[in-house]
Amino acid sequence: RLSHPYEIQGNEVTIGCSIGIAIAPQDGADSQTLIRNADLGLYAAKGDGRGVHRFYAEAMLEGARSRKRMEEDLRLAIAQGQFRLAYQPVVSTRDSQVVGYEALLRWNHPTQGEISPAQFVPVAEECGLIEQIGEWGMRAACTEAASWPRPARVAVNVSSIQFAKPHLPALVAQALAQSGLAPSRLELEITESVFLTDNQESERQFAALKALGIRLALDDFGTGYSSLGYLRHAPFDKIKIDQSFVRGAIRTGSRNAAIIRAIVTLADTLGMETTAEGVEIQDEIELIRDLGCSHIQGYVYGRPGNSSEVHRTLGE
Ligand code: C2E
Ligand code: MG
Ligand code: MG
Repeated sequence: RLSHPYEIQGNEVTIGCSIGIAIAPQDGADSQTLIRNADLGLYAAKGDGRGVHRFYAEAMLEGARSRKRMEEDLRLAIAQGQFRLAYQPVVSTRDSQVVGYEALLRWNHPTQGEISPAQFVPVAEECGLIEQIGEWGMRAACTEAASWPRPARVAVNVSSIQFAKPHLPALVAQALAQSGLAPSRLELEITESVFLTDNQESERQFAALKALGIRLALDDFGTGYSSLGYLRHAPFDKIKIDQSFVRGAIRTGSRNAAIIRAIVTLADTLGMETTAEGVEIQDEIELIRDLGCSHIQGYVYGRPGNSSEVHRTLGE
């Protein structure tokens, strides 16, 4: 009933509804606890794609507590400079030369040790800390790359939340100016989730970033749900093929190779480069080269873990 379209001043309006449920007395004996627990159920309902109902469960409280703890730890990490960047080489398949490095955020938690960005970046996005962390990463990557002995490129991941901020181009310009890094050496990695919001806004943002003379790469290609329509306009220089397609591509009967080939054809036609991520073994290098990818990135140049990442003392 609620979601039937309404007409308001000649416009059709639809509203959605997600429901969180807490039941007294087992989920709380006072209004404050009940409302908080119903809210946690609501949070879970939204997380499960909205438009559904979820009953409160104790695990939700534990999840919320650990998110909250991580949020507090992230604030401290920013204040105390606990983040650093690791650099993963990107290699040309044509001549096996390193053409650049992707800067990857690393967090050594004082008690929990290394925490993956796949874990803490989503929390930082949720609680509004990704802007600060991202800004630090952008400046640090530009400064470090400017001091490298060879003018290799540096790629920086940009969260869709950062991308939506109108001042992003100004921030990038400032990082370039302060570090002295040539704009052509900086590449921003953006995921297709940026296209879920306002079209005109994102087109303006793309234009402003390209006007700085930097490069743009489409990260995690093929893993989302967006249409391909955005490729008509978005000025990408490169498509990064997600490691889930590389994984298992050498197995007989795998369809991954066919998908990679199709992505390469698409990118070639649009005049874009391609980087295959997550290349770990020699057979994969050969396959990826045969499929026509222009670049590869992965742990193949060392053992998994930090050994294939180049830390602060970077020298080629
Ligand atoms: P991504 O941008 O797609 O980064 C590639 C990820 O794949 C990295 O994981 C990298 O270490 C991993 N990888 C590359 N080659 C191989 C391989 O051969 N084998 C295996 N097993 N893994 C490989 P990482 O560093 O854990 O980063 C995960 C994600 O976290 C990144 O995915 C990116 O979305 C996000 N992230 C990392 N640094 C930043 C950052 O500075 N800002 C933002 N906003 N997000 C970041
Ligand atoms: Mg990336
Ligand atoms: Mg990726």
